[in-house]
Amino acid sequence: MPKLITGGCACGAVRYTCHAEPLAMYNCHCECCQHASGSVCAPILIMAAKAVQITGEPRFSTMSHDSDHPHHGFCHACGSPLFARSQYKEDVLLVKAASLDDSKWFIPVADIWSANALPWAYMNRHIPKVFKTPPVLEKPNAVTT
Ligand SMILES: [Zn+2]
Ligand SMILES: [Zn+2]
Repeated sequence: MPKLITGGCACGAVRYTCHAEPLAMYNCHCECCQHASGSVCAPILIMAAKAVQITGEPRFSTMSHDSDHPHHGFCHACGSPLFARSQYKEDVLLVKAASLDDSKWFIPVADIWSANALPWAYMNRHIPKVFKTPPVLEKPNAVTT
């Protein structure tokens, strides 16, 4: 993992820098990630939102597919998929791993939203499957006092 994680869109209008290590790395099979990436799943880094500095203006659109992170951020100019936001946790930002300047070090530790995995999805049998939302993206328990 590089000391400073950097990445951006295809045209360079949106760039980002991550000042911390990812909280988790997954392959996400939710319907939103499939549609937003145009692919079978989206490799994602889950970052503390405050650790990610974005330059340029990604455009977020909210999807109505089954997911805990329906808000997906794209470059306004070239359309590259870059980010996703959780429905429940504002303090995390999902970063699409394929947008990293160097993504060779990325190692997914689980497949998440395997409930939505397409029949033709190739999944690594040696990593765990999380049926839907992983704990790091779960809705925090309501505090009752
Ligand atoms: Zn762009
Ligand atoms: Zn997803």
